[in-house]
Amino acid sequence: MVKRDLIIVGAGPAGLSAAKVALEAGLTVTIIERAAILGGQLTKQTHKFFGSKEEYAKTRGIDIASILIDELKNYEKRLEILKEATVVGMYKDYVLTIYQGNEYFKYQAKAIIIATGASEKVLAFENNDLPGIYGAGAVQTLMNLYGIVPGNEVVMVGSGNIGLIVSYQLIQAGVKVKALLEAASNIGGYLVHAAKLVRLGVPIYTKTSVKKAFGDKQLEKIETVKLDENWQYIEGTEEIINCDALCISVGLTPLHQLLSMAEVDMIYISELGGLIPKKTPDYETSMPRVYACGDVTGIEEASSAMVEGKIAGLMAARDLGHRHKKFNELEKQFKDQLQNLRQGPSGVKIRLGLQKAGEEL
Ligand SMILES: Cc1cc2nc3c(=O)[nH]c(=O)nc-3n(C[C@H](O)[C@H](O)[C@H](O)COP(=O)(O)OP(=O)(O)OC[C@H]3O[C@@H](n4cnc5c(N)ncnc54)[C@H](O)[C@@H]3O)c2cc1C
Repeated sequence: MVKRDLIIVGAGPAGLSAAKVALEAGLTVTIIERAAILGGQLTKQTHKFFGSKEEYAKTRGIDIASILIDELKNYEKRLEILKEATVVGMYKDYVLTIYQGNEYFKYQAKAIIIATGASEKVLAFENNDLPGIYGAGAVQTLMNLYGIVPGNEVVMVGSGNIGLIVSYQLIQAGVKVKALLEAASNIGGYLVHAAKLVRLGVPIYTKTSVKKAFGDKQLEKIETVKLDENWQYIEGTEEIINCDALCISVGLTPLHQLLSMAEVDMIYISELGGLIPKKTPDYETSMPRVYACGDVTGIEEASSAMVEGKIAGLMAARDLGHRHKKFNELEKQFKDQLQNLRQGPSGVKIRLGLQKAGEEL
C-alpha cells in the first residue's frame, strides 16, 4: 500500500488552492485528477470572470487555471500529481482506490481533501436521449477545448449564468441560437449577460420548457410548452422549434459519491444543488481529517471554491502538525473573504442553503 500525507482529490480551483496553502505550510501533497489537464471547469471557461478581485475577477477562467498551476511550481519536490487517474473508492481507513491506465491501485492518506466539483443535472422529457441533446458544460468542453460546435441551430434550456454564457459562446462560434427557454418567470443569471443575448436577437421565453424531442437518428426538432405557476404543462400552448442541438443548463449537483461511500454524514439541501457533506467551519467533514471544499460542498462559484480550498488546505496542514506561519492571519482573511463573496442578492440562495445545513454564516 502506498502511504501519503495529504491527498487532494480533484484539481479544479478548490483542489489547486488547497494544495498551494498546504504546501506553503510545509506539507507533502498528492493531487489526484481524472482529467489529462489540471484546472477543472476553469479549463473550458474562455470568458472573463466575475467574482472578487482577490479571486481574479476580469481574468479568463483558462488563465486563472494557469495562474493556480504556476503557483505550485515552487513546491515540486513535495508535490506529486497523478493525472488521468480517477479515485473510484474511498473507505473509512483513509484508503483510496485509484484507476489509472487500465490498472487499479490503492493509496492510504493521513488526511484527505475532497474537491471533486459537480456534475450537470438532466431534464426529463420524451426522447431526451437523442443524439444532439447535450449538457451546457459538455458543449463548453466540446467547443472551447476541442474546437467542435455541437450543431448549426441550437436551443438553450435554462437562463442561469451558465446557460447565458454558453449561449453567447455558441454565437461567437458561429452557431445560431434559436431560442432560450426558462421554466421560471424570471431570468436566473445576471441581466447583463441576458441583455447581450437579446441584443443579438435571441428570443428568451420564460415559463416555458421542452415537452418532447423529435428525430430519427439525431435531433431534428423540439416541442416547447408553457408552464403554469405550479410548473405544470398548459395544454394547447405547444410549439415546434426546428434545431439540431439542444443544450440543457438546469443546474449542477455536487459529486458527493466518494464521501457517501466513506459514510461521511450528508444532508440534502436543494439550494446548494443536492446532497452535501456536513462540515465544520474549518471544512472538516464528520470523518476526522477528511475535508471537502468547492462545488462538492454546494454549488457556488470558482471564487468561493478557491477560498474554501485555501481554508481546507490550511486546516489539513494544521491537523497534520504543519501549522502555517501566518495561520491566524490567513484563517481570518479567508473566512472574511468567503463571507464577503456571499453577501448581496446573488448570495441569498447560498446563505439560505448554508443556514438550512446548520452552518455559521
Ligand atoms: C459556463 C460556466 C461559467 C462559469 N462562470 C463563472 C464565473 O464567471 N465566475 C466564477 O467564480 N465561477 C464561474 N463558474 C463556476 C465555477 O467554474 C465552479 O464553481 C468551479 O469550477 C468549482 O470548482 P471546484 O474546484 O469545486 O470544481 P471543478 O472545477 O469542477 O473541479 C473538480 C475537479 O475534480 C475532478 N474529479 C472529479 N471527480 C474525481 C475523481 N473521482 N477522481 C479524480 N478527479 C476527480 C474533475 O475532473 C475536476 O477537474 C462557471 C461555471 C460554468 C460551467
